[in-house]
Amino acid sequence: MTSPVWHPFTQHGLNEPIPHVVRAEGALLHLADGSTLIDGISSWWVTTHGHCHPRIAAAIAQQAGQLDQLIFAGYTHEPAETVARGLIEIAPYAPGCDPLAHVFFSDSGSTAVEVALKMALGYWHNLALDGLAEARSRILVLEHGYHGDTIGTMSVGERGVYNAAWAPLLFDVCTVPFPAPGREQACLDALEAACRDKPAAFIVEPLLLGAGGMLLYPPPVLREMAAICRRHDVLFIADEVMTGWGRTGTLFACEQAGVVPDIMAVAKGITGGAIPLAATLATARIFEAHRSSDRARLFYHSSSYTANAIACAAAVANLAIWREEDVRGRIAALTDGIATRLAELAAHPAFAHPRQLGTIAAIDIVTADAGYLSDLAPRLRAFFLRHGLLLRPLGNTIYLMPPYCIDTEQLDCVFAALVAAGDHFSA
Ligand SMILES: *Cc1c(COP(=O)(O)O)cnc(C)c1O
Repeated sequence: MTSPVWHPFTQHGLNEPIPHVVRAEGALLHLADGSTLIDGISSWWVTTHGHCHPRIAAAIAQQAGQLDQLIFAGYTHEPAETVARGLIEIAPYAPGCDPLAHVFFSDSGSTAVEVALKMALGYWHNLALDGLAEARSRILVLEHGYHGDTIGTMSVGERGVYNAAWAPLLFDVCTVPFPAPGREQACLDALEAACRDKPAAFIVEPLLLGAGGMLLYPPPVLREMAAICRRHDVLFIADEVMTGWGRTGTLFACEQAGVVPDIMAVAKGITGGAIPLAATLATARIFEAHRSSDRARLFYHSSSYTANAIACAAAVANLAIWREEDVRGRIAALTDGIATRLAELAAHPAFAHPRQLGTIAAIDIVTADAGYLSDLAPRLRAFFLRHGLLLRPLGNTIYLMPPYCIDTEQLDCVFAALVAAGDHFSA
């Protein structure tokens, strides 16, 4: 029987197998045919503590029977208030920096970034109305960036085959070169030059560019980027949608650079990965630029499910898990476990460029056939599937982003499959 389902980022013409998953627990997915898969990429970077964490599942069940959904324009509920307070408490903080003080809810990483961009332009628009600044609308972006798949977020992301069809709809941005090793100063100089043209904001994925190929840059560069923006009064937007919730070793990547962004987008792990929710955090000056007795200045953005109560209850449970369980200990142990195994794997001649930040590891498979459209990625996907492992390589880059509950035996299986892939694909 053919399915009417049209899957994302899936070429249905290739007839790749589409495994049917019936149950998940911890780091394991159970398939309809009775077999299991280790979820090596946290089901696309969302599952943090593990699938079906009992406290999150219970919070969702309880909330679903009490208050499911409420219009959020002009109404509020306890789960949203608790999440907002919790986010402000744990947001990146540094003495002398304006703290993140306001929380705007939405329902995906893309919408959280769209909201961030709209807040930045709204800020300058409203300041201009008061004659306090000139209107600014240009966005600076980092080369190889990824911020989502809506029109606005594609506009601020890397251009390529994955968005060529919509190029006519995308707005112009100014791209700052990626700070590759040895090219850090060129990046910072380009940012400084671009800031002189009075752009509205600079948006970055802090420390680690995910979809762009798991590319790392060091905390001092992030710190200097934020300092340059501050000197030129350019708003600094951190997209922590993927890096947030412990992935890079700290709760948020910005912490490692002592950076407090003006606007920060979070999503993915905010509910532990159980149910969609997102939030955009902003400093007081962004909020105050929209607060007025003039209705024309309110922040015109909403989606039907903004701050859905069930999703917020899941996020409340996630915040409690971070407070009460040894999540940081698990992350530290996983980071070490990956580091030793990755060092061994790096000795394999089939691999190059091993890199790791916290619980995220990546390595490139040496091939003449690199690049996003190389048929290596689907062949690797199928190979890992046969080895009981869910991985989704980016071109010739194989990366791991497991849930923090993965045990040493499972991690050994993952790396054994990577060695087997090295043997198989270099032969
Ligand atoms: C995944 C991701 C997004 C988009 O989030 P969605 O929830 O998929 O819309 C935005 N930014 C970054 C850095 C991401 O990794």
